[in-house]
Amino acid sequence: MSLAEHGAVAEIVVDLAAVRANVARLRALVAPAEPMVVVKADAYGHGLLEVARAAREAGATWLGVATLAEARRLRAAGDAGRLLCWLALPGQDYRDLLRDEVDVTVYDTAELDEVLAAVGELRDTGPDVVARVQLKIDTGLSRGGSSSAQWPELVAAARTAEESGLVWVTGVWSHFATSDDPDHPAGDAQEAAFDAALAVAHEAGLRPEVRHLANSAGALLRPDARHDLVRLGIAVYGLDPAPGHLPADVELRPAMTVRTRLVMVRDLAPGDAVSYGHTFTADRPMTVGLVPVGYADGVPRHASNAAEVLVRGTRCRILGRVCMDQFVVDVTGLDAERGDPVLLWGPGDAGEPTATDWAEAAGTINYEIVTRFGGSRTRRVVVG
Ligand SMILES: *Cc1c(COP(=O)(O)O)cnc(C)c1O
Repeated sequence: MSLAEHGAVAEIVVDLAAVRANVARLRALVAPAEPMVVVKADAYGHGLLEVARAAREAGATWLGVATLAEARRLRAAGDAGRLLCWLALPGQDYRDLLRDEVDVTVYDTAELDEVLAAVGELRDTGPDVVARVQLKIDTGLSRGGSSSAQWPELVAAARTAEESGLVWVTGVWSHFATSDDPDHPAGDAQEAAFDAALAVAHEAGLRPEVRHLANSAGALLRPDARHDLVRLGIAVYGLDPAPGHLPADVELRPAMTVRTRLVMVRDLAPGDAVSYGHTFTADRPMTVGLVPVGYADGVPRHASNAAEVLVRGTRCRILGRVCMDQFVVDVTGLDAERGDPVLLWGPGDAGEPTATDWAEAAGTINYEIVTRFGGSRTRRVVVG
């Protein structure tokens, strides 16, 4: 680990062999449904282009991203496979994406009109582009997508555009609200609402190539929800999408390890209080180590006094508040020294916490732990 040489405060080690193994495992589990690997938000903090390449190698027939810019980055890097994006801002320029055969998601007729305008502009200047459009129906998340009230109108408008040869409706899809809780009644209700929406689309003459509803938890816990395609995010990164619910045989391997070094080690006397606000006070002689990452790098401040790191093979708890650039851990009795490696999280091979352990300590989800970590002061290292 050559942190000082690179001027980085921590290394994010991304194991692409784990990504490939997870994709292959998930692909086998969900077959005959196809796997879409979701690489939005810089592949949940793991590196967009590296993960995209590994996912394709492992058989991801589709990739999924949120924004148009993310799709553009993939195409610019040479990815030519099926690719869906689903979060456009008003007034965004669709033209290069349509030319590059990216599937774009449409939530309402205003978005469909923007796509149609872009097709018109492209045709004025040359190529006979047909926009690949996927329609999203909201089945109970009350987030993006058409309401069921507006669905018939959206479907009809899309069908008209398809008959004019301007678009091709390649997909109809929706998204679960509670798939990490298999006992929640909303899951069945959403599946039923999706079936109803598909029937409306079929009735209107649409014959989408893919129908899809499930994210990682949905794909693993609700086989009926797999349809033609499943959108796999967190599970690809080896993290449990539904802690406490996943069957043991799923066997995913966490792909991200975060490591740094202790910057100093010092002793505390009974009564010494630690970090801002003095939320921890030593009640005995203790030894503490200083870890040079903080909330500016994505360490959750809510992990104060709660999360653990691994030093010298031992789990060491954070003492006091996580600061912007640093936090303090309890290394009492470990003979720790300045420069000792510190593992924040990883697959757990050496006994280090997982991102899921951090999430539990910080009152959040493992998605947020890995996605937020990084930034200009850290360095990503790809292995495998
Ligand atoms: C992020 C996202 C996913 C992936 O969800 P996971 O729970 O990480 O598998 C799937 N679909 C949509 C629409 C998303 O935004």
